[in-house]
Amino acid sequence: MKKKISLAEVSRTTGAMLASGNIRDLDDTARPTLRDLTECLYFSPGDGRIWLDNQRMILLHNAAFGALRRELIDGMGMERARGVLTRTGYVSGARDAELVRQQWPDAEPISVLAAGTRLHAIEGIVKVEPVHITYDAVRGSYKGEFVWHNSSEADEHIAAYGMATDAVCWMQLGYAIGYVTTLTGKLIVFREVECRAMGSPVCRVIGKPAEEWDNVEEDLRHLNVQDFVDATGYGRDGIALAPLPEEVEDAGNSSPLIGVSPAFAACCQRLQRVGATRATVLFVGESGTGKELFAQMLHGIGAPTDAPFVSINCAAIPETLVEAELFGVERGAYTGATQARPGRFERADGGTLFLDEINSLSLVAQGKLLRAVQTGEIERVGDTRVRRVDVRLVAASNIDLREEIRAGRFREDLFFRLNVFPIHIPPLRERRDDIPLLLNHFLRHYNQRHGRAVAGFTIRAMRALLTYGFPGNVRELQNLVERGVIAAENGASIDLAHLFISGEAQNSPLFSVSDQGNLATELAQAADDEAPDLFRILARVVGQANTDRLSIDSVERALMKLAVERAKGKLSVAARLLGLTRPQLAYRMRKMGLDQA
Ligand SMILES: [Zn+2]
Repeated sequence: MKKKISLAEVSRTTGAMLASGNIRDLDDTARPTLRDLTECLYFSPGDGRIWLDNQRMILLHNAAFGALRRELIDGMGMERARGVLTRTGYVSGARDAELVRQQWPDAEPISVLAAGTRLHAIEGIVKVEPVHITYDAVRGSYKGEFVWHNSSEADEHIAAYGMATDAVCWMQLGYAIGYVTTLTGKLIVFREVECRAMGSPVCRVIGKPAEEWDNVEEDLRHLNVQDFVDATGYGRDGIALAPLPEEVEDAGNSSPLIGVSPAFAACCQRLQRVGATRATVLFVGESGTGKELFAQMLHGIGAPTDAPFVSINCAAIPETLVEAELFGVERGAYTGATQARPGRFERADGGTLFLDEINSLSLVAQGKLLRAVQTGEIERVGDTRVRRVDVRLVAASNIDLREEIRAGRFREDLFFRLNVFPIHIPPLRERRDDIPLLLNHFLRHYNQRHGRAVAGFTIRAMRALLTYGFPGNVRELQNLVERGVIAAENGASIDLAHLFISGEAQNSPLFSVSDQGNLATELAQAADDEAPDLFRILARVVGQANTDRLSIDSVERALMKLAVERAKGKLSVAARLLGLTRPQLAYRMRKMGLDQA
């Protein structure tokens, strides 16, 4: 007998906390329904676009995908191709999870999880038949089993290679991992236990939290771009062992490099390319993006294992001490210099010297640094002896050094010495697909460090975290999770109030966080600089509005406000955005009582 539990009821009694759910309880009319989801898809042949909600899609021949897949396998080897395809699938899954979360913020958890199976089918990838899904956010447990019919990837694999000895639906697995991980905030790993390419009539997949699988390193290797930067790495033998996040951490990093996003992968590939050389590298990226970790990774790839890695934050040393810090001091060089002491250059001899926030060096210090870089020689303060040093220089700046040159604050000749191989480190908002992996990592890390057992994140906390602007980047995310782990109850999930200490957060369950990083309860505050067009603005307005009060008037009003904001107050530009003439817009705004200033 089917046990009917109203999940809406469970949700109500537990507040916004994601309640447990079982696929057997899924009601066909629960939103988002299959119809709700198909309505997100529309074709705009006039301008050459297909949309799934606000995501641009393409309709690709499966044979073309098969050809690409085959080239990847033949060119890169099975292991690397599998990694690329898994991560590609992950990105799709993560995007679809965001779509569902944004469009149906109040949907029941099991419907939200089931929506992924439907989207996967709508997109023509595979027909998914859920065997069972159980989910309990409070305990942080997830278990899912699915049968895949008509796998498009299996079709193409069989067409290219005939029957396989292992399961081959890698991109589809990546999708499942990306979708469920993004929704639950826990790393859920899927494995294909039967595959049609191996002769089974259907493919069968099982998903559960990473820590519940044996040998999960295998799966994480395909998921984690870490293998790109492992010095023992791929390209030589085609197989790289990615350290588990914990292992990286034990090596002294509290904030390891984790990611699957294209922006992060591109950055890692550049790192891998230059790592094996001794070339000077300049990292450019905002504060908190992990520049020092990248520098350490670079050192790990290129330098002998016992070579020193010496790091110095130029912003942290007072102007008067810079020279002594960099080049060392002789005894008696000045009052208080009672002992001779080597500087960072000497200590980094044979290894890597990392100069963080190099933009904060004074022009005088820059001149001295330049001389050392040019000649490979240094003199300690108060010493006449010249010492030769062999140092790989790695510098980092959180502002554009070309701007600093124009402003007369940075020496152009030093810049050219440093800018041999620049690597841009993307801010977290440009690699949102990595947020769930990072959340999961830090959750485990801080649970362990503080002896806590916090289960995960509520759906609204995840929603806020996925749309938050993270001006402080990975470091800020790390701090938020630590705060959440301390503030939440053991066995329960981290909710909004634990993350953003703000009265607003508790009073307004529908509040959101704007991409500028502000808590936003007003529609007008939800402006999104990244929105490329009107459609995305509209999607955002509808997604963030309090649906009880949503009316055409309120949407129109919000749209006009957004357009004017985006046009930086220029009414003619705003009108063009909205497909109106300037007088038409001015008239409507007056009618709505909106200020035109
Ligand atoms: Zn398969």
